[in-house]
Amino acid sequence: MDTQYVKWDYNQMGVVATLKLSEPTENIVAWQRFLPTGPIALLPLTNCLSSLVWSLPTTEAKRLLKVSEEEFVDSINNALWKVYPKDGVVESGMRALQQLLEGLSLQTGAVKQLQPSVSAIIEGSRAAFPLQFGHSVSYVQTGTVLVGDAAHRVHPLAGQGVNLGFGDVTVLVQLLAEAVINGAPLGDMTYLRKYETLRQRYNVPIMFAIDALHRLYKGTAAPIVLARSLGLQLTNAIPVIKKALIEHASGQIRNR
Ligand SMILES: Cc1cc2nc3c(=O)[nH]c(=O)nc-3n(C[C@H](O)[C@H](O)[C@H](O)COP(=O)(O)OP(=O)(O)OC[C@H]3O[C@@H](n4cnc5c(N)ncnc54)[C@H](O)[C@@H]3O)c2cc1C
Repeated sequence: MDTQYVKWDYNQMGVVATLKLSEPTENIVAWQRFLPTGPIALLPLTNCLSSLVWSLPTTEAKRLLKVSEEEFVDSINNALWKVYPKDGVVESGMRALQQLLEGLSLQTGAVKQLQPSVSAIIEGSRAAFPLQFGHSVSYVQTGTVLVGDAAHRVHPLAGQGVNLGFGDVTVLVQLLAEAVINGAPLGDMTYLRKYETLRQRYNVPIMFAIDALHRLYKGTAAPIVLARSLGLQLTNAIPVIKKALIEHASGQIRNR
């Protein structure tokens, strides 16, 4: 399309695989742990199978594609369970907030489910994809429309990539239907430009929010760690914020 494309590399790859859990989980939940090297996420498929998305520096990701399946599984369990030394300032900040929330009778997430362990991977399911931020300045041209990752790519840490694409498709289909009802040709630029405007208005703020989260979680300095830990604990404890976030993440297409 010869359009401008804004992009930057995260110098990371997303390592994926289908994992067999050591024990079936009672409550099927998604897990994500933010490590200094990038987030590791387990997205449930059934109560004993999960899909892995592990963001890692490119060299480490490539190395993990080559190691034996046993070593790969050990690395996953290590990433899920390794205990990191905690910063004193962060610890005391978190304790103070917990006491405050308890004083206000706000739930502090006392009931915790432990992360699962992995026993094996489904043979041949291991792969890795380069991670990039990318956005096409234009989504449409006469006879051509970009949807999904062709128009925009985000870091997988928020699990939103495919939702943005589904939103594009929903809006495009609605506008093409509108064009047909009004007797306009399918390639009418008035409708295509409307698609572009609506979707860019929706996609771009989310893309930058995801990029900002990536930058926030990359930092290891105590004030950054403290700020994000307090933010997460507050989000978890205040039902209105938590509900709004869950609804936004799961209902993007409906609410676009
Ligand atoms: C590691 C990783 C984890 C992710 N995790 C999540 C997640 O948890 N949740 C989420 O919502 N999103 C996630 N995403 C993002 C999600 O995968 C993408 O947003 C989504 O797959 C985009 O769909 P798409 O159809 O637009 O593009 P794609 O899935 O890239 O499909 C494009 C297809 O076109 C084919 N193709 C390309 N060029 C040509 C050509 N010239 N001719 C014919 N065919 C061609 C390609 O082979 C491909 O099959 C993740 C992405 C990665 C990399």
